[in-house]
Amino acid sequence: MRIIIFGPPGAGKGTYASRLGRELKIAVISTGDIFRDEIKQNTDLGGKVVEFVKSGDLVPDEIVTDIVTKRINMPNSKRGFILDGYPRNVEQAKSLGNITKVDAVILLIVPDWIIVERLSNRRICKKCGAIFNLKYLKPKRPGICDKCGEELFQREDDKPKVVRERLNVYEAQTRPLIGYYRDRLPILNIECNSVDIPPKVIVDKILQELQKLNLLG
Ligand code: ADP
Ligand code: ZN
Repeated sequence: MRIIIFGPPGAGKGTYASRLGRELKIAVISTGDIFRDEIKQNTDLGGKVVEFVKSGDLVPDEIVTDIVTKRINMPNSKRGFILDGYPRNVEQAKSLGNITKVDAVILLIVPDWIIVERLSNRRICKKCGAIFNLKYLKPKRPGICDKCGEELFQREDDKPKVVRERLNVYEAQTRPLIGYYRDRLPILNIECNSVDIPPKVIVDKILQELQKLNLLG
């Protein structure tokens, strides 16, 4: 199964993608996570992308497409994959079309106020990347990851000024992809109208919809 999970920043793409990946035993390819890792490890790639990521702008298409191509061709993507954060503009969508076939797009539909609440209260584990929310998905011990006991931190680009830029970029470049895919792929509309829906509920909805398309085998 090859799917794209799509939606505005803060829609929960990362949270749902990692759960779906586990559930379906397929790879999760998250371009944002890949970049954050490379930046943390001070690699050449990290150096090339850090300024874009810090300011909330898109990393140049060639860099992103190159990485995604490599990941898709890795053995652990053989059973399938979920793309989280790619494609992010029409150019990338066209490139993806040349790399691989995709079965469906999961479209997360989330009102603006929820996005703001999610992003401003989001905290992430330094070590394992688990995602928490200070108001809606609280860690059991404040500031500490439930899964591995490490400290939580706020992403630099979750600070208000950069959030605004990411939302602008989404509206201008990424949202138009919905129109692009409308006549090309099945789109699963997943509505998230309440800020504290447990991730499991959304993941189950997604699985139901994938089942309806006969993608679960
Ligand atoms: P978001 O919560 O905004 O969806 P991500 O973790 O997906 O955040 O991405 C973080 C940053 O990484 C983006 O703001 C952008 O700078 C960069 N990035 C991630 N994916 C892409 C992509 N497909 N094309 C260009 N830049 C990307
Ligand atoms: Zn952790």
